This record gives sequence, C-alpha cells and structure tokens, in this order.
Amino acid sequence: MLENVNEKCAVVGIFGHKEASKLAYFSLHALQHRGQEAAGISSSDGEKLHTIKKRGLVMRVFDEAKLNTLSGTSAIGHTRYSTAGDDSILDAQPVFARYDLGEMAIVHNGNLTNAEEVRNALIEKGAIFQTFMDTENLIHLIAKSEQKKLIDRIIDAVQRIEGAFSLVFLSRTKMFAMRDRHGFRPLSLGRLPNGGYIVASETCAFDLVGAEFIRDVAPGELLIFEKDKTPISVKVFEPTPKHCIFEYVYFARPDSKVFGQSVYQTRKDMGKELARIKPIEADVVIPVPDGGVPSAIGYAQESGIPYEMGIMRNHYIGRTFIEPTQEMRDLKVKMKLSPMTDIIKGKRVIVIDDSIVRGTTSRRIIRMLKEAGASEVHMRVSSPPTTDPCFYGVDTPNKENLIAANMSTQEICDYIEADSLAYLDEASLLRSVNAEGDNYCTACFTGKYII
Ligand code: SF4
Repeated sequence: MLENVNEKCAVVGIFGHKEASKLAYFSLHALQHRGQEAAGISSSDGEKLHTIKKRGLVMRVFDEAKLNTLSGTSAIGHTRYSTAGDDSILDAQPVFARYDLGEMAIVHNGNLTNAEEVRNALIEKGAIFQTFMDTENLIHLIAKSEQKKLIDRIIDAVQRIEGAFSLVFLSRTKMFAMRDRHGFRPLSLGRLPNGGYIVASETCAFDLVGAEFIRDVAPGELLIFEKDKTPISVKVFEPTPKHCIFEYVYFARPDSKVFGQSVYQTRKDMGKELARIKPIEADVVIPVPDGGVPSAIGYAQESGIPYEMGIMRNHYIGRTFIEPTQEMRDLKVKMKLSPMTDIIKGKRVIVIDDSIVRGTTSRRIIRMLKEAGASEVHMRVSSPPTTDPCFYGVDTPNKENLIAANMSTQEICDYIEADSLAYLDEASLLRSVNAEGDNYCTACFTGKYII
C-alpha cells in the first residue's frame, strides 16, 4: 500500500454526443482513483464554453441541475489530486481562457519539467498568472503564438514544453487530444455507443459509458475532433515511448487496459514472477488490499500456497483528522485495515504489497498481523525498491523520505519487523509488463531520468 504517493490527475474528453457533460461526469467517476481533491467539467454548446469546477469528489461537485447547465455536444473533464496546502480552487481544472481566437479550456495529466523556465520567460514578456499550475503556461503560449489557426497554435505551444503531458483541449467547435513524445501517462481513444468519441486516461471510463476501445493515442500524436468527421491524426513528435511503469504497479484500476495491456493480468504476472524469484515456505498468501490483490493471486497460483483475504479493508473512511501521536496513527491504520484472525492465527503468512514507500504503513500492518497471532510474517513486494522521486506527474515523497533510498533491504526488513522481505527485481518487472527495448520509464526504481 503506497503511502503518500498519488497520481496527480485524470482527464476525459467527449465529442459529438448530446449528453456530453453527463458522459464526462460518469467517466470522471470511473477515474476518481486518480485524484480526489477537485473535479471539473467544461462543455461547449457551439457558441460558448461553460465550466464548473470545485474542490471535492466528482459526486459532490456535480448534481443533475449543474450538469444541465453544462450544455452542448462536447465536454472535457478532470479530477485532480493536489498536495496539502495547495488547495485553491484556481488550481482545479479545466483551465479556461478567452483569447483573440475565442474561448478555450484545457485539462492536463502529467508534469512539465521546464514549467518554471517557460513561466519566467512568459512573465518577463508581461504575462500575468492566476494559478500555480504548469497547465496555465499552455494557455499563455497558445494565446501569444503568432500562428493564425488554433491547431497551429497548439502545435507551436507543445513544442515549447517538456515533460509528461496527456492533454485535452476544447474550443467552441473542436476538441484536441495530445500525448507527449514519451507517452508517460496513458490516454486512450474510444467510440461512444450512439455516435461520437471519447478520450480518457484509462479504459475503465469507457466501460462505464459503454464505449468501445479503438486504440491508445500514440506518443507524440495530436488528434483533432471535428463535427461529423473521423478524428484527424497529426504526428507532432517522433514517438520515443517511456510509459510510466508505476501505472501497472499501483495507479491504474485493475479493470483498465493501459499501454495496450490488462492491468489486472499484468499485476498477476508480477506476482507469479515474484513467487518464482523470491519463494519462501508458508501456510497462506494474503494481499494488502486493494493494491496487493492481483499480485497475491499470482503469487499463490505460482507457488501453490493457498490464497486468503487475511486483511479486510474498510472502504468507508476518508481522511481522518486526528492527533498525530503514535497511538493515534496506529489506530488510523486499524480503522482502514483489520486482520482476519481465524485466517492468520498460528500461520506462516506471506503478505504481498505493491510497493513500500516510507515503510511506516508496512510496519503497522506487520505488527497488526503478529498481534493477530501470525507465527511468521514474510513480506513480498511486487515492484523493486522505490529509491527515487518522480518528476513526471506523480506526487512522491522526497528522496530522504523514501525508505529504500536510505536503507538496505535487510535494514528495511528489520525496521518493518518482518521475518523476511524481498522485492521483485527490475528485470522481472520489465518481463511482466512485456517491455520492448526501453519503452518504459522506471526512474523511481533506478534514478535513470530521461528528461
Ligand atoms: S519516475 Fe516512476 S512514477 Fe514517475 S513516470 Fe517514471 S515510472 Fe512513473
């Protein structure tokens, strides 16, 4: 279970459907796991753009009356995760602007690595920024571009930015979807059941609205959606794929397909690899829910050790504002996760998690299992040690707070009070995701950043 690691957001775009904003709303529901701090939708009725965005879960931000004001046949949406303190509604998306060609709204998943440089250059030329979001850079770049058509301005703007971006733009009559040349963050294209198109961060959004998956938006590709036309594809950058491998480890929903593969099956394969390279004798395999479930199933199938749900997760607790004492923190984990004593008592337990970040949650889980009577607890992790932070759209702690950056595996094992600890290695992880050449980013495990 990843502590303090969050995907920064999800994006969706609906084009050519009379209930566009409602479909965007349902899609955002399916993508809620990628950001819970704020949600927003912009729609276009052909004359004007309408935007609603607010802090909170998708369900709380919108109701039927609000969705009815978001009229038109195209809409884009966003769910946002933001770091503590960065809670201004101005930093919610879509980012909306009026400029010389009309109106425009943008949603963005990812992180621009040259954002500060671009922003400073724009400020020097007189631009005034309203938010801290790197996405606002794009609005200024588009507005200031000397190109005559919006499409050319978008191309002009994206050529000036670097980093990770899956973007959807909405104008009064068109929608544009674009992925950076490395395709760090996912973005897929689908066909809606009654005509029209959808783009979304994950295909679980397609399933909810009954859309049919067509393909992924390719790295470096810009798709243009116009009324009564099939989407036009423009290759803006030569693709050099570096998909985020953490999407498979933790972020994406198991029922999604990202980067062309089932997330559930890939996680199961990681568990199988883990069982092959890090076996241990035990009576039962249990997952840390929910992240560890598919890998634990894979580990159990490969090892022949029975799989059980040894820990129950309470899905109904949100944030708990309690005193940060040790006792209260332990109680907080117990509110979320409780041991199934009958399954654990007297058993040698293998507990599978997707990753260890700070190590504090793992230690509480292992203590909890031992208090419930486990005779041995062996921790197996279905990814390599997380040693480096992410600069491409994932909010990870600094290096000093990543336990694997500061301790050896044996030291971590002692710290989390496990009887043994082992991780999946990089080669096995790459095998599980069917990597071809070096088409995955693994920087948070290796420190090898490409930008
Ligand atoms: S550094 Fe890690 S989390 Fe960030 S894009 Fe690369 S693999 Fe994904």
